[in-house]
Amino acid sequence: MKREGPMNGEKDALLQKYDLYGCFQCGKCTGGCPVSLKSDLNIRRLMIEVVLRDNLGPTFRGEEIWDCTTCKTCTLRCPRGLEPMDLLIGLRTLLVEEGHIPKTAIDALESAYKYGNPWNAAKNKRSDWAQELALKVLPQGDQSTNLYFVCCTAAYDTRLQNVARCLVQCLRQIEYDFATLGDEEICCGSEIRRMGEEGLFEMLREGNIESLKKYHIRSIVATSPHCYNTIKNDYAVDDLEVRHYTQVLAEAIGGKNPFSGEMKKIITYHDPCFLGKQNRIFDEPRHILKSIPGVTFVDFDRSRENSLCCEGGGGRMWVEASDQGPRLAETRIQDAVEMGVDILATACPFCLLTFEDAVKTTGNEERLRVMDITEILVEAFSE
Ligand code: SF4
Ligand code: SF4
Repeated sequence: MKREGPMNGEKDALLQKYDLYGCFQCGKCTGGCPVSLKSDLNIRRLMIEVVLRDNLGPTFRGEEIWDCTTCKTCTLRCPRGLEPMDLLIGLRTLLVEEGHIPKTAIDALESAYKYGNPWNAAKNKRSDWAQELALKVLPQGDQSTNLYFVCCTAAYDTRLQNVARCLVQCLRQIEYDFATLGDEEICCGSEIRRMGEEGLFEMLREGNIESLKKYHIRSIVATSPHCYNTIKNDYAVDDLEVRHYTQVLAEAIGGKNPFSGEMKKIITYHDPCFLGKQNRIFDEPRHILKSIPGVTFVDFDRSRENSLCCEGGGGRMWVEASDQGPRLAETRIQDAVEMGVDILATACPFCLLTFEDAVKTTGNEERLRVMDITEILVEAFSE
């Protein structure tokens, strides 16, 4: 007898929404999945199990469903144009509705609900990172139609606060007028949505859109590819220009380069999934790095569309992976060390944190620095 549960009630909706009968089980999705070799997560199998199983619950309550980093490789590789990553997020949404969710993820979601950030940090400390910078702050009456959207991680994490400060320096160097929301900025909701908490994501989305309207914002520049992606693609606000900072800086450098100085280093660049694979911003970060006199730029073998995920997305900053294999960030660090580079550059708060941790766990602190592109620029033009 078919047992009805919240998940089973949704089966027809899943079949239709994700066009699951269109899947011909070629396996290209799983073949490209960066975690499938070390986790029980098998995205091809999930596609067919929703079709075949009567009782969905036990199939999808395994820990491995939280191993997905929402890198989107599976979706990009599907020859039928299906969206396996979105199915997985849809399944997480059902699990969240049932209350089947890892404890650490619950903490992050509760914090986002209570404080507007997933880091359990006080709302009135959100702009402490900028205390000495005399920024324009819209709620304090300052004016600008360009918003710098800082990101929870860049605002609160003491390591990432340096990236936010360096970005401010870079934006000032190119004479880009901007203001922030100060303590009124709230989480963009990118990771909240990808952990399956659609209702909370909507609440955050509405809160941010209300601020955009209140302060007549026409253009946004974001520190994080995750904020950039979600505001641009998930919010979909008419007449709003949303850019990642690498786009803004690359455009400025395309004219008369406003940055001077040099850096005699060998640098490689890691494409963050939410910038590269998901939004095809591949050239701008490379253009910035190559424009610095003295820099020798070398690419990873696995770069651009084939870049290896760092495992920081899809809520993985808060959820431990179920597998015990080497972390992909550690593989990336070993690759960089073998290439003989001095600096591994990236342009994403989560990539920076996962790589710096992996530099420590692989014992490569003396051999390799991990830096955000803004930090490299500031170091180069400060010398
Ligand atoms: S790549 Fe697409 S068609 Fe092939 S198994 Fe995966 S979801 Fe199905
Ligand atoms: S989004 Fe990435 S990690 Fe998740 S199933 Fe697809 S390929 Fe694997």
